Amino acid sequence: MLRFGLKLRLIWSHMSKACHRIAASAAEQSSIEVERETGATRDFSQRGTNDRIEWRADALATMKTALAIYPGSFDPVTNGHLDLIERGTKIFDRLVVAVLRNSEKDPMFTTAERVEMLREATKQWENVEVDVFDGLLVQYARQRKAQVILRGIRAISDYEYELQMALMNRKLEPHIETVFMMPAEAYSYLSSRLVREISNLGGTISGLVPPTVEARLKSKSQK
Ligand code: ADP
Repeated sequence: MLRFGLKLRLIWSHMSKACHRIAASAAEQSSIEVERETGATRDFSQRGTNDRIEWRADALATMKTALAIYPGSFDPVTNGHLDLIERGTKIFDRLVVAVLRNSEKDPMFTTAERVEMLREATKQWENVEVDVFDGLLVQYARQRKAQVILRGIRAISDYEYELQMALMNRKLEPHIETVFMMPAEAYSYLSSRLVREISNLGGTISGLVPPTVEARLKSKSQK
């Protein structure tokens, strides 16, 4: 009789634990849904690994709906830019590489040439589009209904300028986030300006730019 009572208590204790777990998971689920709808931030410090994994998948799924604009002069596109573009294609649903028209008084390549080189170099990524823009970046981003501006940070020297730009853009358009990404270390010293200089002085630029750009740079420098 005593044993039977013990067994009953054990079963009851298991059942009540299971009920608690189900209730807790239902409460968790509904709080996730509420937070999804309201966009509220959650405190994850008390959570287990599964929760974090679920949250990451959730967050990535949300980011996947984003259209990001990657603006620049791209005079010309380098392997550093491409490294960043590839990283962007993995995070954002669509990535628009936006060439700033007339960014410098005397660019080496015309806007049309820069666009052509970019299209050639990014044709492997289906979710990449190359476009041209004038004037205020946030205006263009608004017009494209973009949620994100993507920028590259190579070294601390980029940071100050990029921070200023990002904060000013946020002031002009609070709904657009600037996202910074770092290229592979091998490209952290690479800039279009350096590539142009090396090429003009007859130095070798292979490995720094895509082959199509290398050929165009060579023919420009020989003229
Ligand atoms: P640059 O500064 O070389 O003239 P752009 O004006 O075309 O190039 O730069 C567009 C964006 O690409 C900027 O956010 C810049 O920081 C980033 N960028 C340029 N070169 C690289 C690189 N080697 N690696 C990562 N990001 C880069």
